[in-house]
Amino acid sequence: MDILALTLDELGAFFTAEFGKGMFHASALYREIYKAGNRDILNIPEFAASPAFAEKLEKRLILAPGQVLSTFREKNLVKFITGLSDGLKIESVLIPMAGRNTLCVSSQAGCRMGCRFCETGRAGLKRNLSVSEIVGQVFNARFVLGEKIRNIVFMGMGEPFDNFDPVIAAIRIMTEQKGFDIALRHITVSTAGLVRGIDALGRLNMKGLRLAVSVNSADDATRSFLMPVNRAHSLQTLKTALQNFPLTRRGCFLFEYILIKGLNDSETDAIKLAEYIHPLPVRLNLIPLNAVAGFNYESPCDDDMQNFAESLAGQGVFVVKRWSKGRSVSAGCGQLGLEC
Ligand code: SAH
Ligand code: SF4
Repeated sequence: MDILALTLDELGAFFTAEFGKGMFHASALYREIYKAGNRDILNIPEFAASPAFAEKLEKRLILAPGQVLSTFREKNLVKFITGLSDGLKIESVLIPMAGRNTLCVSSQAGCRMGCRFCETGRAGLKRNLSVSEIVGQVFNARFVLGEKIRNIVFMGMGEPFDNFDPVIAAIRIMTEQKGFDIALRHITVSTAGLVRGIDALGRLNMKGLRLAVSVNSADDATRSFLMPVNRAHSLQTLKTALQNFPLTRRGCFLFEYILIKGLNDSETDAIKLAEYIHPLPVRLNLIPLNAVAGFNYESPCDDDMQNFAESLAGQGVFVVKRWSKGRSVSAGCGQLGLEC
């Protein structure tokens, strides 16, 4: 039984079905694994009175977060590569912020969405990650790198909605109180705009979970050029899905917009974007393009980025300029996959 793929209730149900034990032991094991990174069942106090059970359990349990193969650092940002059981590699990035560390996790090895500006997309999809491979990235950040994690963003490799069920299962485990206890409102799922995923997430009504959408252009032709997914789900379809999405009263969507010189950074682009956003509640992150081989465009200069941001702000859009961190170690947005 793969412990990193189970909620506490699921572990309790497994204990009952297999061993006739219940939540007392399940809670103790869960606490040791998720709070201390310790799987030494024989030394957990709650198991002291039932050594035969502990020994049987020991043989049945798998704890397989994947092996951290290497780490790359830029200032205090850490990119780490995890080797999976079949030899594939994935990348995660730890972004420290004064006691509020954010972990950027991968949901797939590769990605099949094929966005032109994205390193991960260039290699195509190798395979989906399992629940424990997703949760394992948090486990390794916590117990191999030794960092507490407050925020999770699904902005690493892959399209989370192309691996929907495992991503949702992983989120349920990450938020488990007796486990990592990460607040749902501190988790962001970022999508290139897979409408069926947005609809399905809406139906789950996971109050507080944050939804980010990589928009990158409010013009269908430009967006389809950049992101093939737009050919199947046009901007209007995407907007309708967002309008039907059950946000909390004060909730908003996060829109990500990569600024690309001469492609989506004009005043007309800003006007179209503001029109598209209206009346959705949106916080827009403006991200300068990170260079990727084979995509012959550049990021705009600071002044152009400032002008674009001001134009949007002038049209009532809540906009935040993001300076991509981690470029020197290829840990910036869209640069994951080079080492894999
Ligand atoms: N597949 C999901 C999540 C992973 S991509 C998605 O597309 O949203 C995470 C973010 O990296 C996205 O917002 C994407 O737009 C951004 N990104 C990809 N390539 C980039 C690049 N070359 N420069 C800057 N950001 C990039
Ligand atoms: Fe996949 Fe996101 Fe990269 Fe597009 S931007 S190829 S959806 S990881």
